[in-house]
Amino acid sequence: MQFRDENKKHHNQLLEGLKLMRECPMCKNEYKIERFSVLDEYHGAHLVHIVCPKCANSILALVTISQFGMSSVGMATDLSAEDAKKIFQLDAITDDDVLDFHTMLKNIQTHIFVSKKVFPPSSEHPVRS
Ligand SMILES: [Zn+2]
Repeated sequence: MQFRDENKKHHNQLLEGLKLMRECPMCKNEYKIERFSVLDEYHGAHLVHIVCPKCANSILALVTISQFGMSSVGMATDLSAEDAKKIFQLDAITDDDVLDFHTMLKNIQTHIFVSKKVFPPSSEHPVRS
């Protein structure tokens, strides 16, 4: 059962890495490191979702395990583990997406400018009765 032993070793390494994330950054409650969800895993880097059992705030942590040691970086999130997993499975934003968004913003600004020209502020016109 080498596969199972490798999985157990891998799981234990991840638990060691998570010990670096010892407490909730919001309420300072000590985490129960058994309560986490691994959202993604790539070449020794694990994206982990942790919910604080005391204040219910969540963090996303990137835990990396390599031959040089372990490190972890965390950030607060309001995403559930399921939502975070869905978001990370989406395609990356492309250059074309950014250009399309820029064009959309430009069109909105043009529309607002045109709207102000067509419908000037009401203070400039007397109210009709
Ligand atoms: Zn907390």
